[in-house]
Amino acid sequence: MKLQTVKNIDLTGKRVLIRVDFNVPVKDGKVGDDTRIKSALPTIRYILEQEGTSLVVMSHFGRPKGKKNPDFSMAPIADRFSELLGKEVKLASDVISDEVTAQVEALKSGEVLLLENVRFYKEEESNDPEFAKKLAAYGEVYINDAFGTAHRAHASTEGVAHYLPSAAGFLIEKEVKFFAPLLDNPEKPFVAIIGGSKVSSKISVLESLLRTCDTIVIAGGMAYTFLKVQGHAIGKSLLEEDYIEVARSFLDKAKEKNVSVILPLDHVGATKFDQNAEAVPVDSVDIPEDLIGMDVGPKTLAAVADALKSARSIVWNGPMGVFEFDSFAEGTKKVAQMVADCEGVTVVGGGDSVAAVNKFGYADRIDHVSTGGGASLEFLEGKELPGIKALEK
Ligand code: ADP
Ligand code: MG
Repeated sequence: MKLQTVKNIDLTGKRVLIRVDFNVPVKDGKVGDDTRIKSALPTIRYILEQEGTSLVVMSHFGRPKGKKNPDFSMAPIADRFSELLGKEVKLASDVISDEVTAQVEALKSGEVLLLENVRFYKEEESNDPEFAKKLAAYGEVYINDAFGTAHRAHASTEGVAHYLPSAAGFLIEKEVKFFAPLLDNPEKPFVAIIGGSKVSSKISVLESLLRTCDTIVIAGGMAYTFLKVQGHAIGKSLLEEDYIEVARSFLDKAKEKNVSVILPLDHVGATKFDQNAEAVPVDSVDIPEDLIGMDVGPKTLAAVADALKSARSIVWNGPMGVFEFDSFAEGTKKVAQMVADCEGVTVVGGGDSVAAVNKFGYADRIDHVSTGGGASLEFLEGKELPGIKALEK
């Protein structure tokens, strides 16, 4: 993979069109968690530091379903963006119109214009070539730094790249730098910890990781379908009947490839799936009939710690248990800590896993915490991300 990056493209005197992921939470007209805006700033600052550049910024926000809707205006985001950048950000009146074209053409060196929500137009998500061409006309160079939407072939993430010299920003560059080797040529031993709720949403990742992993830990809600295959009692835990055969065939393949699979050895159970349910320790692989497996227990965590001891590459996707409920968060918290303590290269991807790492305060001790939930999953599945493929030269 040869990724064209912002540093090896000449920006001098250019009007630069950049796609970022500013899809942040907004409440009562105010931006909440602004991590996504902050993560795009290094690229934006770099572009503005180049001689004579101006910037047209585009992003989506929420799901306005292809229609203009003031509830999904970029206005609050423009304000926060401007504060963080320490510089005026003009908000365009629309995405595509003569007025916007005039606003773009009036941009002077060093100025920044944020377009309205690109998803105000259905042509964005259908990747309409005419729409992409109109967006492309706003710049002389296209930079994509929206890793969070890189798995979508939309007009602003993929379409525009066909009409302009294009390159990745620092954020996409970093994501690729950490994820690509995992599927390609990871430092060994390579340990993957895959949790979360469903076999159906993680089976492709598991299969893909069989190519390069030495050890795969399977935990979270999906582990019970695997334990069932092995003939264990799983009580009232999550079970995906339709995936029993898929799980069986995965375990067979892992054996053939000499990939060791670690499944839960003990659990923390509950009689009901509830925030206030009492945590019941289950000191065996088998789970009593009346209990739901909610988290992994200490033996399982010791086995994970042991696997991580010599690991040189580690990827973690998917919580170990129902970490949203305090009584069942221990497994996820401990794994976050173990990953943070690991000597090898550590990568965490997945919306909920990243939320857990942040919640428990380990993010800054992990080498790479991905900014894209769906995108990181598709990357690990070995799929080509259209927004990144379009930047390869
Ligand atoms: P990610 O977003 O990191 O990829 P997923 O979306 O696959 O992770 O899974 C996260 C969800 O899995 C969480 O909401 C968590 O509560 C749930 N989960 C984890 N363990 C269990 C379990 N034992 N039973 C039910 N749900 C679980
Ligand atoms: Mg999730």
